[in-house]
Amino acid sequence: MNNELTARKPASSRPDYRDRLIDGKKIAAEIKEEVRQEVSALKDRGQEVTLAVVLVGNDSASQVYVRNKEKACDFTGIRPLTYKLNEDTKEEDLIHLIQELNEREDVNGILVQLPLPRQIHEDKVLNLIRPDKDVDGFLPVSVGNLSIGRPGFQSCTPQGMIELLKRSGISIDGKHAVIVGRSNIVGKPMAMLLLRENATVTVCHSHTKNLRELTRQADILVAAIGKPKFFHKEDVKEGAVVLDVGMNRDENGKLCGDCDTEDLLPVVSRITPVPGGVGPMTIAMLMRNCLYSLRLKQDLAD
Ligand code: NDP
Repeated sequence: MNNELTARKPASSRPDYRDRLIDGKKIAAEIKEEVRQEVSALKDRGQEVTLAVVLVGNDSASQVYVRNKEKACDFTGIRPLTYKLNEDTKEEDLIHLIQELNEREDVNGILVQLPLPRQIHEDKVLNLIRPDKDVDGFLPVSVGNLSIGRPGFQSCTPQGMIELLKRSGISIDGKHAVIVGRSNIVGKPMAMLLLRENATVTVCHSHTKNLRELTRQADILVAAIGKPKFFHKEDVKEGAVVLDVGMNRDENGKLCGDCDTEDLLPVVSRITPVPGGVGPMTIAMLMRNCLYSLRLKQDLAD
C-alpha cells in the first residue's frame, strides 16, 4: 500500500482554517456604512463634514493613500478638500495653508500626508494643526488625552484594531496583550487603548531580550515591526489572537504582514490577514474621526 496515498486526505477535506481570519475589509465596510448614514442624517439637518487632506510632493505610496481617503470620503459623503502641493513647496507656504485651514469654520479635520519633503520640518507643521481638527490623533495633546483616559482623537490604526477585536466578539478584559513595536502611531497608542480595555500589556521593541518567550505568552499578539513574515507558529501560544499590522513586500514583491499567516493559522484562534485585515480599518476610523471632530466642535460651542 502506498503510505503517502493513505496518509494524505483529499485536499477538500483538509481544514484550511479560513474561518479563523478576521475580515477587516468587511468590518471596515460596516463602519463606513455607519458613518455614511450619520453623515447623511447631518446633511438632512443642513450640516456638512469636511476633511482637508494635504499632500506635498510626488511620493507614489502617498498618492495612493490620498486617493483611498478621497474614495472613502466619496462613499461616506464626507466632503474631501484635497490640496496637492509641489515637491519644492516652502515650509512657510505649508504653514500658511495649515493656519488658513485651522481658521476655516467649514473644515472639520486636517490631515497632512506623511512623509513631507526634506525642506519641511514635519513636527513644526503637524504641531500647528488645531487640536480639535487632529483627525489623525498624532498631536501631543491627543496622545496625552488618550494616556490619561480623557476623550479626544485616537490614532486610527490602533483604534481600528480595538474595533476589530470588539466586532469579532473577542474579549480584551484581563487578557495578556503583547505588542511588538513601540512607534508613536501604532505601538504606543495601542498599548494605551488596550490598557483602557483592561488588558495586561507588555510592549516589546528592538532591544527586548527573549522576544519570542514573551510573544509565546500573549493571549493577544500585536505585530507591528515592519519585517516580512517575522513571526511563525513557534512564536505564538495555541489559541492566541494575532493582529498583524505590518505592511511589507515578500521576496516575490507580494504584500505581506509581519506574520507568516499560513504558518500561524493552524495554531491561532483568530488572525488578521495582510492585505484585508488591519489596513482597511485605518481609513474607516479616519472617517469616524471626522465625525468626531464635528461633535467636538458642537461640544465646544455648547
Ligand atoms: P516603525 O518603524 O515606526 O516602528 C517599528 C517598531 O518595531 C519599533 O518600535 C522597533 O523597535 C520595532 N522593531 C523593529 N524590528 C524589531 C525586531 N526585530 N524585534 C522587536 N522589535 C522590532 O513602524 P510603524 O509602527 O510605523 O509600522 C510598523 C508596520 O506597520 C510597518 O510595516 C508599517 O508599514 C505598518 N503600518 C500599517 C498601517 C496600516 O494601516 N495597516 C498603519 C501604520 C503602519 P525600536 O523602537 O527599538 O526601534
